[in-house]
Amino acid sequence: MKQTIAVICGGRSGEHEVSLTSAQSIVNALDRSRFNVLTIGIDRRGAWWLGPEVIEKLRKGQQPYGRRVYFLPDPTCPGLVEENIAGGQQPIPIDVFFPVLHGPNGEDGTIQGLFETANVPYVGCGVLASACGMDKAIMKALFAQSGLRQLPYLVVLRSRWESARDQVIGDVESRLGYPCFVKPANMGSSVGISKAANRAELVAAFDDAVRYDRKLVVEKGINVREIEVSVLGNDEVAASVPGEIVPAHEFYDYDAKYAAADSRLLIPAPLAADDVATFQEMAIRAFRAVDGSGLSRVDFLFDKDSGEVYINEINTLPGFTSISMYPKLWEATGIPYEELLSRIVDLGLARHREKQ
Ligand code: ATP
Ligand code: MG
Ligand code: MG
Ligand code: MG
Repeated sequence: MKQTIAVICGGRSGEHEVSLTSAQSIVNALDRSRFNVLTIGIDRRGAWWLGPEVIEKLRKGQQPYGRRVYFLPDPTCPGLVEENIAGGQQPIPIDVFFPVLHGPNGEDGTIQGLFETANVPYVGCGVLASACGMDKAIMKALFAQSGLRQLPYLVVLRSRWESARDQVIGDVESRLGYPCFVKPANMGSSVGISKAANRAELVAAFDDAVRYDRKLVVEKGINVREIEVSVLGNDEVAASVPGEIVPAHEFYDYDAKYAAADSRLLIPAPLAADDVATFQEMAIRAFRAVDGSGLSRVDFLFDKDSGEVYINEINTLPGFTSISMYPKLWEATGIPYEELLSRIVDLGLARHREKQ
């Protein structure tokens, strides 16, 4: 019998649009001989909508985006229920949810917690890994604990920036220097991230980043090659060949990721065999450091001057269009896009069974 899979996209996140793009590719490629595919879009206010055109409608801002639905945490039939259907309505049962949500309210353990409370299977990392992978301050603490090399950094609360600006500037200048990167702790797609080369830019970077989060991470900036590795598995974890990003801009900012046509992916990355093994080993260690399951993409900063490898971050729900780094690296490692999707769903189902 076919399984009903609900792909969930959009969401209350600065990465709402990126999520729609990832989800469209996934919906198109999921194996129809195995799955009935439903698409659920979460709008920017947090309302859930169901329907085949929900992605297109959310993108164009065309209300209603589909049929309004609610999550039904029924222990015998977890799924969806429609609004405004009088009496005796049948819930729509879902066998497995596939949250294709990037950033806050989706990649951060919140929606994963909703599925856990209803005991319904879902794809990707669990609550803990998602939450730890989203928060760059916590992520870094766990990486440090696992002996992964990182660049020097500071964690700064928005309230401290607002009340003790001069002290914060002093800390950054004495401990990190310029250039440095200012990042919202919880975000992705480089939203809210700036590179600061002097004090005026640092102030502007902070003032921008605090719009996105109450907590910020400031990091020493170096001259890098950017290497990424895809990870797949639950307790047994596999790492892909590494890939390299050559950004169109000074760093891999939002426009360089999604707008500039001349950012390039080198797959596989041109690396010595020793370095390949180092990146793969570190990627698996990072995945285990946050207790990941299913999938993640681990990003590295490879110092052009010293040749040192630093871990940058883990993304528990990486960009997932058919031309995104995560699936491209698996394709180069021998797993085509459609098969990758099936495997990731299987990993979610297996994790669910293990918990029962
Ligand atoms: P993603 O879309 O991968 O989730 P993100 O928003 O979590 O991205 P980061 O990966 O931390 O952000 O940083 C975005 C980009 O900024 C990196 O890809 C890199 O180009 C640049 N960058 C970040 N930190 C540094 C650093 N310390 N030194 C040099 N470049 C950096
Ligand atoms: Mg990230
Ligand atoms: Mg991300
Ligand atoms: Mg990144």
